[in-house]
Amino acid sequence: MQWQEKAAPQIVAVKPSGIRKFFDLASTMENVISLGVGEPDFSAPPAVIRACVASLEAGNTSYTGNAGLPELRQEIAALFAASYGVEYDPQTEIIVTCGVSEAIDMVLRTILCPGDEVLIPDPAYVAYPAEVQMAGGVPVAVPTYARDDFRLTAAALEEKVTAKTKALLIGFPNNPTGAVMTREDLLEIAEFAAKHDLIVISDEIYCELTYSGEHTCFASLPGMRERTIVLNGFSKAHAMTGLRIGYTCAPKELTQIMFKVHQYAILCANVTGQYGALAALRECDADVAAMKAEYDARRQVIYRAFQDMGLAVFEPKGAFYIFPDITSTGLDDETFAERLLTEEHVAVVPGSAFGEQGRGHIRCSYATGMDDLKEALRRIAAFVERARAAR
Ligand code: PLP
Repeated sequence: MQWQEKAAPQIVAVKPSGIRKFFDLASTMENVISLGVGEPDFSAPPAVIRACVASLEAGNTSYTGNAGLPELRQEIAALFAASYGVEYDPQTEIIVTCGVSEAIDMVLRTILCPGDEVLIPDPAYVAYPAEVQMAGGVPVAVPTYARDDFRLTAAALEEKVTAKTKALLIGFPNNPTGAVMTREDLLEIAEFAAKHDLIVISDEIYCELTYSGEHTCFASLPGMRERTIVLNGFSKAHAMTGLRIGYTCAPKELTQIMFKVHQYAILCANVTGQYGALAALRECDADVAAMKAEYDARRQVIYRAFQDMGLAVFEPKGAFYIFPDITSTGLDDETFAERLLTEEHVAVVPGSAFGEQGRGHIRCSYATGMDDLKEALRRIAAFVERARAAR
């Protein structure tokens, strides 16, 4: 069978993730310190684990309602009202999903017609352009620059918008750069979205991991609730990646349409994870604060270490990634990452995996324990020195 010809062209055309290749290589080696994965090194908070175990022991192993446990949706609605002053009806405007990953897919499949363009800041989370393509749309990269602290600007968006643009897909705090957007920055984007009548998909999965200033929810900006789908979940700040719980908050009419995709493709998110998520919202603010404090301490160590190596590096303000520019070593990012792995047993991700603007950078995650982090930084410094000496 000629599968490349038989399979759907929009899926065949998607490039495999540039991240996986490095994990596969790293998993065959010994004594590797990975700064590659975007996953907390913590386990979920004890209250989450207790709630999951208790739900199983109580025999809760069935489907939940398609949209998720009503009490979980109520907690999510209460969180948005309290944190951002944005009201969502838990009955009709919130869907609990299998992580933000399902939410991205569900939203894009719901809104995109073949050929619709979606503006995506570059560099970006690897799934965004791939998901747009798989949903039949066309991802359009909008460059962001280290000189602007990797913030998205309306001027850059204006250069890429066309009559075919349907939506804007943003994710701040940002993976891979650690950039955040202030309320003023976002107001500019909101004005652009309104001017061109665009749908805004705002992935706020790292919102709790903002180290300076307050996170602004895009839907809280004037006039934006009606055109915005907010995506969020429990994988990052609550260290619940494997429990696979995310959600969407969106206007009722759109939620009803999206619900068809979720209902038929997924049925419901896993029940155990939903009970864990409920405990996460009700009982775990202190755990999140403690993990955030630890990430912040590591952030300062890693930022200083890259500065000391003489690399150009933007100070990350959110998430748990740092994105140094390694061009001064004379190596491209792919070669740097491959050689760093084989010579020093440290895994990082080449920046070009996240888009053209990522070229010449590496993404390092500091969701890695402090001792390992310091040892990895020592090895990276030795490698950088060797690479420079060989220029
Ligand atoms: N969005 C961003 C920006 C991410 O970095 C990730 C995971 O790395 C996800 C979404 C996926 O999250 P989830 O585990 O909720 O599917």
